[in-house]
Amino acid sequence: MTSVPSPREMLARLVAFPTVSSASNLDLIGFVEGYLADLGVASRRVPDGDKASLVALVGPEVEGGVVLSAHTDVVPVTGQSWTSDPWTLSERDGRLIARGACDMKGFLACALAGVPTMLAADMRRPVILALTRDEEIGCIGAPPMIEAMLAALPRPEAVLVGEPSEMRVVTGQKGSWGFRAHVRGHEVHSSLIHTGVSAVMQAAGMIDWMTRAMAEAAGTTPPNDFDPPYTTLHVGLIEGGTANNITARDCTFSGEVRCLPDEGVALWRDRILAEAARRTSAMRLIHPGAGIAFETRMDLPGFAAAGPAEALARSLTGDNGRHVVSYQTEAGHFQDRGLSTVICGPGSIAQAHQPDEFISVSELDAGAAFIDRLTRRLAA
Ligand SMILES: [Zn+2]
Repeated sequence: MTSVPSPREMLARLVAFPTVSSASNLDLIGFVEGYLADLGVASRRVPDGDKASLVALVGPEVEGGVVLSAHTDVVPVTGQSWTSDPWTLSERDGRLIARGACDMKGFLACALAGVPTMLAADMRRPVILALTRDEEIGCIGAPPMIEAMLAALPRPEAVLVGEPSEMRVVTGQKGSWGFRAHVRGHEVHSSLIHTGVSAVMQAAGMIDWMTRAMAEAAGTTPPNDFDPPYTTLHVGLIEGGTANNITARDCTFSGEVRCLPDEGVALWRDRILAEAARRTSAMRLIHPGAGIAFETRMDLPGFAAAGPAEALARSLTGDNGRHVVSYQTEAGHFQDRGLSTVICGPGSIAQAHQPDEFISVSELDAGAAFIDRLTRRLAA
């Protein structure tokens, strides 16, 4: 790249890499490494097979910097009807359209296009660019990336996760626990049901308990900013049994719990596991091999912002509103490591994952202006 790219030019380059979570993101990572190296900025890969995260420090190597966090992966386009090539940025009616334009290569484009200005600004505190892999499949790239960042670089003061929030300062997010349960029963002829254990009926009992636990939470949780304002429990898939006249030997079901940040994922997971253990004891009175086993599919901490990140984002955007989200981001992982974190980025989450995903030109401009204000703040 010979001249300084605009955020829009940078976005066009980034969306051309089809970094669906199931594919390698190394072409994009290599491009960013090369771009930064041309500017004299060293970056550090955090590799994992055919993927990598990337960390780079822009500015002085001192504590108190600001992390700009973005994931590099995008969701698939399979089965969606797009009116233009999802991997080529196109503009229509003030919209910049491509997979990832909004979620969240728009923010990444603003951050990367802003690097030459950062370098020229004589910043007193650094910006740390933190690019992750595999956010869309459970935020699994963030923990090792954060580990590597904290080991290699001076400790930052604030983390801005640039997920689409229309530049509003998002200060809370529900945590989630994704699970898969396997209920093992005991097969007998259904006429002798008292000597068998029906995995299907035991699963139904466990799911009914979860439904009632959610209803109880709905009735007892004090008012708060979330919608709905309580922890939710959901089972999305169930499978089991072989015939109408056989007590089912196996039944599996899976789903997720979305927890209020002040209740926490661990509290709900432990409650559910305790209930499963109680039911397992009862099942084993009939057959020793029976029981309910839960396995964790996703464990994502929620977050409730406070401290320097919130103050910084509010002063840069002028937003003093209260905004919380129920979708999943990497913010909780940063906060779990004691880093003050908020979500604030251009574009609307309503466009994320959609066919003809777009970021409006005005939102991309707002993102770039935000990075400019941050740069001036760090230079002051
Ligand atoms: Zn995202």
